[in-house]
Amino acid sequence: MQLQSFGAACTVTGSMHLLTLGDRQLLIDCGLFQGNDELEARNREPFSFDVTALDGVILTHAHLDHVGRLPLLVKRGYRGPVHCTAPTAALTETVLLDSARLQVDGYRHDLRRARRQGLADDQVPPPLYEEEDVHRALALLRPSLTFGETAGVAGVRVTPQRAGHILGSAYLLLETPDGRLLMSGDLGNRESGLQLDFTPPPAVDAVVIETTYANRTHRPWPATLGEFRDALRESVRQGGKILIPSFAIERTQTILHTLKTLMDAGEVPRIPVFLDSPMAARATHEYFEYGDELIPEVRATLQAGEDPFRPSTLHVVPTSAESQRINRYDGPAIILAGNGMMTGGRIQHHLKHHLWKPTTSLIVVSYQSPSSLGGRIVTGADHVRLMGEDIAVRARVHTIGGFSAHADQDDLLAFLGTAGTPHVWLVHGEPDVMAAFLPVLEARGLKGDIVPDRQPVNLTGPGFPQGRPPGFTDEAPTGPRPEAGE
Ligand code: ZN
Repeated sequence: MQLQSFGAACTVTGSMHLLTLGDRQLLIDCGLFQGNDELEARNREPFSFDVTALDGVILTHAHLDHVGRLPLLVKRGYRGPVHCTAPTAALTETVLLDSARLQVDGYRHDLRRARRQGLADDQVPPPLYEEEDVHRALALLRPSLTFGETAGVAGVRVTPQRAGHILGSAYLLLETPDGRLLMSGDLGNRESGLQLDFTPPPAVDAVVIETTYANRTHRPWPATLGEFRDALRESVRQGGKILIPSFAIERTQTILHTLKTLMDAGEVPRIPVFLDSPMAARATHEYFEYGDELIPEVRATLQAGEDPFRPSTLHVVPTSAESQRINRYDGPAIILAGNGMMTGGRIQHHLKHHLWKPTTSLIVVSYQSPSSLGGRIVTGADHVRLMGEDIAVRARVHTIGGFSAHADQDDLLAFLGTAGTPHVWLVHGEPDVMAAFLPVLEARGLKGDIVPDRQPVNLTGPGFPQGRPPGFTDEAPTGPRPEAGE
């Protein structure tokens, strides 16, 4: 079993792992690099393997950093099947179409700027892909993977299991004559406001595991919920607009469901809620469609004939003209808009109109990279540059950190606890985070190795410790964990 990672090796984006299992080659995820110019330049590099020699592609979940290069793979010759769960297929369509739109809009913007500077059009790199490329990629999706059911993918036995990260997210058990391997994809926070816990994995010979938050512990969900409620109450008292920048997938639905729950329980006044993101509205539709995949509270609301993601005061804002009109609405209102780090999207014009008012509240529920606009605001900038203007930051800023959709260190160790392998391969983490995780693994009798960028590694074979770590019995649970409330 050989692994070669062409993304998410020593970084957290661009997930793309080539597995060589006997004479078969499978690609696990095909994600886009995001974050800075240096990383994003890697999206334009040719693939370092023969695209046409792949026997199959499997997507673990629909985040852009796991699916965003799929149209490129197809553009460069891949014609085989792309396997995933049904909700992942539905969300992948939304994510890739939005990505193509952003690519084309970005290209047009760069083109206009280049022309103003007197540069030739061919100085501007073309979009990575366009809508028609996305449709060609979507035509290859095979949404037949089901949690807990073994499927044959190019002759390899593959069992997807619930990863509890976002709707449809799976980790993969791959069984070959050389051994049993787990590919974690992204694992969920077991204190999620929407997702069921990941299914404890069975015993295997090797694990490739994500390590986004392998060096930290999340705040417990009840504390997060309390913080969010208190921030909302205080913000309503302030009387101004309440801006919640939010990622379109998972975070928006978690916030909508939490708002509905708090308002229905009378814990937060029923003020208007504007969902100002067409992409988030489409994703929310998929969460509604597949709501029986989510926590018992969501399923119970569905069974009662209600929409778990629709507070009674919700307005979905379809067009940007209507988005502008929200600014004329008087009185307190909650505005949920993308993007999550405030670096683009409709949240920007809401910030421009309201950030300078002391009555405004900005409730930050998503990770903010230090260099992003959101990062500068949460670290106390008193002025920011926004849509060509200098805007004072006078709004009250509430930062609520517990909404993460990623496993923390305790979650990762719980996952490894039943996987029963002494050898763990680390991907999807920053180098310092992975380095900090290694001694934690060692203290538990596990050997960790950081998967190098683009270099092939043998996951099992001579030289690697086999057998089970100390104290491990082979009675690992394979069924789903009992759910809260059942
Ligand atoms: Zn993810």
